[in-house]
Amino acid sequence: MNGTNTEEAPLRNPSESIEPSDPETTFEEVDSDQIPETDIQFECPYCGKSLSIDQRGAGLVIECTQCHQLVTVPIPEGMKLSDLDLPPEEKETQLANMRVMLAKSQDRIASLVAENQDLREKADAFDRWQADRAKHQGDLQASFEELRDRQTALGEALERLRLRLTEL
Ligand SMILES: [Zn+2]
Repeated sequence: MNGTNTEEAPLRNPSESIEPSDPETTFEEVDSDQIPETDIQFECPYCGKSLSIDQRGAGLVIECTQCHQLVTVPIPEGMKLSDLDLPPEEKETQLANMRVMLAKSQDRIASLVAENQDLREKADAFDRWQADRAKHQGDLQASFEELRDRQTALGEALERLRLRLTEL
């Protein structure tokens, strides 16, 4: 009986057993940890965190991933923003991103102005309190001096009375 061999025959067909190679996976092998050379790397001026962004982010204001301060991405030397020929949809995204950052900046400015106003009011209140305190202290001092004068006068009167009593 040699009929068992017929079942293996289709597997021997080379066109089916070899997977076609994917040209995209063999074209370049990118280490996922490696930062592409085109990325702009810089440090957050607030917290020193090392940030990296695609070069199309040059000149943009972004939020630091660590301290959440607004940071301007430096423009690499010799690079012109016009060199970045962005497709329209990316320009839209950038514009939207800039609007968000602008709104955030405005919120932050508004809160700083409010904070400044609040501090100024507190400083004014403190000045008034200090002036009041100085005045009260002056009043207190005057009362104290008056009391001391009366005490002295009383002491003198008592002394005179005592002298008169010893004379008797
Ligand atoms: Zn930061």
